[in-house]
Order: sequence, then structure tokens, then C-alpha cells
Amino acid sequence: MIKNLILCVSILVLLGSCNTVEKQNFDLLILNATIIDVETGKLLPNKLIGITKDTIRLVDDMAKRENIKGEQLLDVKNKYVMPGLWDMHVHFRGGDSLVEENMNLLPLFLSYGITSVRDAGGDITPSVMIWRDKIQNGTLDGPTIFTSGPKLDGSEPTWPGSIKVVNSKDIEKALDSLQLIGVDYVKMYDGSLSKDAFYGIIQAAEKRGMKTTGHMPLSADLMEAIDYGLDGTEHMYYTLKACSPLADSLTKLNIGYGMMDQILASYDPKLANKVFSKMSDKNVFITPTLYIGKTLSELLDVDHSKDSLLPYIGRGIQQSYQGRIENAKRAQSKGDNSRKKMEQLALDMMGPMYDAGVKIIAGSDCGAFNSFVYPGESLHKELVSFVKAGLTPQQALVTSVINGPKFFELEDYYGSVDIGKVADLVLLDKNPLDNIENISKIIALVKNGKLYKKDSIDKMILKLKEEKK
Ligand SMILES: [Zn+2]
Repeated sequence: MIKNLILCVSILVLLGSCNTVEKQNFDLLILNATIIDVETGKLLPNKLIGITKDTIRLVDDMAKRENIKGEQLLDVKNKYVMPGLWDMHVHFRGGDSLVEENMNLLPLFLSYGITSVRDAGGDITPSVMIWRDKIQNGTLDGPTIFTSGPKLDGSEPTWPGSIKVVNSKDIEKALDSLQLIGVDYVKMYDGSLSKDAFYGIIQAAEKRGMKTTGHMPLSADLMEAIDYGLDGTEHMYYTLKACSPLADSLTKLNIGYGMMDQILASYDPKLANKVFSKMSDKNVFITPTLYIGKTLSELLDVDHSKDSLLPYIGRGIQQSYQGRIENAKRAQSKGDNSRKKMEQLALDMMGPMYDAGVKIIAGSDCGAFNSFVYPGESLHKELVSFVKAGLTPQQALVTSVINGPKFFELEDYYGSVDIGKVADLVLLDKNPLDNIENISKIIALVKNGKLYKKDSIDKMILKLKEEKK
């Protein structure tokens, strides 16, 4: 009996002593953080965040600091911590000769707090896939890449590298090839894509559980596409078309984008509300790309030669900017100012869309050929545009931080600073809920658990600038 008691006591002493000695150890411990809960817009002050490998393993009050250890410590008193930003519309493209210049854009995203990007189609997919894997295993600095691989277009594709899709056989073959290379979703483009092929892709992809988004041939109808299972729509044209009572009669004229002036002039807010509520009910995401809309509409009015980010962009990509400039000159000589009109209407639509529950996603459309829309900065400007259009800063952040992962049904892994989520964080000097422009006041970044302080980010991108000289 006594023997047993002694055994019991000694076990208890042992357990007790273990408890006092044992410390929870993390790779990175962030102290005194004020966490921004983007979903609710609430601030959670005095927090301790423990990260091991690429995952958040602890979020607790600073008062519980005892027995918690970190290999690396970062004290961020009076600073803000939120999930990293997502840019849901970027392009890696321009052919083999621009592969390196495209790869050099990756650190720029990080320097603006962007920890994930959705590549909306291009012609250098094999390279993009290699970067994606290297970023994931920590051998390349960059945001997590989700990619569509090549776009699907019709018999005469607009963009190089696109897959030609005309009939149902082509559709299955195209989707087979996309699945084989392991793309994350399907991007459609309306260069010469027929209405039937567009609907066919959506239906076939739906059967395979693949997500679809993109441009829509103007011969097609957005509401019908939604019924077939369309998951997203890029830019505002196609939603605008659905909001015009003239859409059907203009479609019959077969004039493509020639219908846009009349579509804009006949915008019907009541019809728009019906369209928005259907988009909301069917969980269709829209990427408005407002900032590139504004940039392209003002292309000839603004001198971009002194843009602070231009020196970070490779010469080949800079040369690719010329195409849009020529387009703008042609439009100007024809007296076509539909881009400017569309920009205003797009701003006006944002509030009603948000109120109807449409999932708006933030995407910049940056990349080669999209003149002076720089990686990173352009996503911040997109968020600023959303606030100018009437969203609150919190709602604007939702479009990036929460709706980005939601598109891929990855909200269990991203979107908040919580235990079990991927350790992709942006650390800010000022609160972006007070002023969305504070999103650029970045003091550090955590990407897949790796800490990048401001000076190391600056060095990384300065190297790009110098290598280019
Ligand atoms: Zn695009």
C-alpha cells in the first residue's frame, strides 16, 4: 500500500516537474500582435502567434506567454497582423524569351504583401508550374500560384499558347490536357470562342468538378452560363451586358463589342438587381478589375515614364506595353471613349453588387501586355478603387483575403489568423480598416512560415532593379 502511494506520488512529482520544464516551442513567435479579423472587421489586441513550418500552431493572449518559446521572435507592439493578400487575376506570359522577366515579378508581389496569386492564363505554363512547386517547397521566393494554364479560345485564339476549342471533342481533349498538367481552374477567352463552345466548356468542366471563369463571347448570355454552372466572370463587360434590356436585340446584330456603347447607355438598375441576386444565389464570383480599367482609359493622358515601379519591370515586358498604347491611340482617333464611360458605371455598380451578396474578388490583371499595371501595387490600387466605389475598407479586404481562397474552396486553410491556417501573414504599421491605403505600410511578411522583414524584402527587389541595368 505504502509502496503504491510512493509510486503514485513520484509519478505526480514527475508529471508536475515535466509540466514546468516542458515549453511549447515554435519556429517563429510573433509577440504583442494586434490581429485584424477581416471577416468581422474586429481588432484582437495583445496576441501571441506561434508558427511552425508553414502553419499557424498557436494564437493566444500575451498573458499566456509563460512556457512558450520561439526559435525566432518578432515583437510587433502597436502593429497589425492580417492574412496575406490574394491577387486573383494576374498573367505570366510573353513567350519563352520573357520567362525570366516574368519570374522576376514574383518578389514584387511579396513586397506588396501578396502571398497568393491566381494566374489567369498565358503561354509559359511549364515554367509557371516549376515556380509553383519551388515556391511551395521553399526554394523560390514568391506568392503561392494558382493557375489556369493555357486559356481556352476558339479556332483563332487572340493570345499565343491558348488551346483551340471548336466542338465537343475539342472540349474533352482540352480539359483532359488541363487536368493532366494539374491546373487549378479553367480560364475561357472570347477571341473567337463560339457561344456553344463556351456553354459546352462550362458544362463539361462542371461534370469534372473543375471551376470555370473568364471572358464570355458577347453572343452568349451570362444568366444562361450561370445556369450551366459558370463559377466566375472576369471584368465588367459581361455583367454589364446582362444588365441591359437591349442585350438580346443587340446580340442578334452580331456586332461583338460594338454593342458596348448601347449596353452602357441602356443600363437598368432594376434589371441589374435581378442579375446580382442570381449571381449571389448561384455563388458566382466577379473580378471587376477596376484599376486596370481606369489605367487603360487614361493611357494617353498620363505620363508613365517616371513610374516608380517601371525600373523593376524587364525590358521585354516594358516593350509589350506598347500594344495597348497603340490600341488607345486608335480608339482616340475614332472618338471612342467607351472605356471612360464603362469605368464610371463599373464604380456605380460595386455598392449594389456587394449589397446583393455577390462575391466580388480583387484582381489586378497585371502582367506583360497590360501596360503600367504593376505587380503588387496594382492590387493595392484595386482595393483603393473598391473603397472609392463605396465599399468599406473591411469589405475591400474581404474581396482579397477571404473571397480569394473561397473561389478555390480553400477557406479552411486561408482567410484568417487562426490555428491550423497557412502561415501567410502581412504585418502593417497602420490599420487598413481606418484607411485602406495603410495596406501599403508593410513592415514584414510571413510566407509559408518564412519571415521576411522590410529590409530583406527591399533588398530582394532592389537586386531585381540592379540586375536589369
Ligand atoms: Zn487578364
